Amino acid sequence: ATRNDVHGAIQYPIYATSAYEFDTAEDIEGAFKNTRPAFAYSRSGNPTVDFFETRVKNITGAQHVVAFASGMAATTAAVMCLCQAGDNIVLSPKMFGNTVMLFADTLRSMGVEVRLADFTRPQTVLEQIDHRTRMIFFEVLNNPFLEIVDLDQLSSLTAATNVVLCADTTLTPPNVFDAARWGIHISIMSSTKYISDGGVSVGGLVIDHGTFEWTAVPALSALAQQQGKNAFAFKLRKEILRNTGGCLSPFNAFLQSLGLETLSLRFQRMTDNALQLAHWLEKHPAVKQVNYPALPHSPYYRLCQQYMNEKAGGLLTFELESQKHCFAVMNRLKLIKRATNISDNRSLIIHPFSTIYADFPPELLKEINLSEGLLRLSVGIEEVEDLIEDLSQALQA
Ligand code: PLP
Repeated sequence: ATRNDVHGAIQYPIYATSAYEFDTAEDIEGAFKNTRPAFAYSRSGNPTVDFFETRVKNITGAQHVVAFASGMAATTAAVMCLCQAGDNIVLSPKMFGNTVMLFADTLRSMGVEVRLADFTRPQTVLEQIDHRTRMIFFEVLNNPFLEIVDLDQLSSLTAATNVVLCADTTLTPPNVFDAARWGIHISIMSSTKYISDGGVSVGGLVIDHGTFEWTAVPALSALAQQQGKNAFAFKLRKEILRNTGGCLSPFNAFLQSLGLETLSLRFQRMTDNALQLAHWLEKHPAVKQVNYPALPHSPYYRLCQQYMNEKAGGLLTFELESQKHCFAVMNRLKLIKRATNISDNRSLIIHPFSTIYADFPPELLKEINLSEGLLRLSVGIEEVEDLIEDLSQALQA
């Protein structure tokens, strides 16, 4: 259970403090040597952040949860925990753009090799794995492509390889998706999205489901002799978080704890709105195609039923004739906001090709096959009739 406030405050307070006072020199020594569990400095631990992490742990049934300053910081930390120079990662190129660039630019320049695979064909993932592969990384429901990975196939094909199945589950939050059940060892989430209370703060989570044998990972094998199942989380918090400093602020942890309380309500409302909009957009003559996995004819419908109980969330994409047409429609919108980010309470629209993927090198652009006529709509919790009215006037002109 999560801890209660000393005064019984219903909302767990924000501990706006950098440091913590100790009664004796021996106590502070004990905190540093891990012989006396205590908060010592908020870069490596803070009660409000701990409260948030514990709540996520309770909801997911995970073994360990460590919060970070952003989703990107969480991904970076997980890689640093598992990989050394000379190791490689099998990556889906069809992911959120900055994630791909983190691997393709930043981590590659530090000696971690990136091997791309087509995760809609799990056999191609297996083909890339060798004795230096430490991680398989993909988004379960990917942004903005809205493909769902066949996790049964992927996990059974890769089970014998001893490689960590690490999934970004940002678009499949724990209220609808049980990552451990489908064979994922480590989940990464941008808590900026569904978890934060409607788009008010940035944060990230690394979730260890407690299902991987860490002795198989060279970067963790010595630690696993002492720490066993806790080795990954121990290194993540005590070394990576502490040495790199990408900690979640207590204020954002507070907001995101509040967000967890309304997660399933907001998610359901966004899902209901998005499904109605997807059906409406499909019938519109200006729309060439709608991608939404809860549409019965979507190629991902069966997996959406199996993994998410058909609750696909608030993200959909639709295709128009050209970039010019997309810009014209965006510029006519009155209620839907032109903004990046997803799963805000307000509906947000963006043209991925000219924004998130603008910096993509041509070889990666070719891999992802992103249409210049694609618009990404993150559907909020407004009245769906108002959203239809806005899209209708914007598409009509
Ligand atoms: N993962 C996914 C699926 C995302 O959509 C994003 C951001 O849009 C991120 C990770 C990065 O998260 P953050 O913006 O919190 O760093």
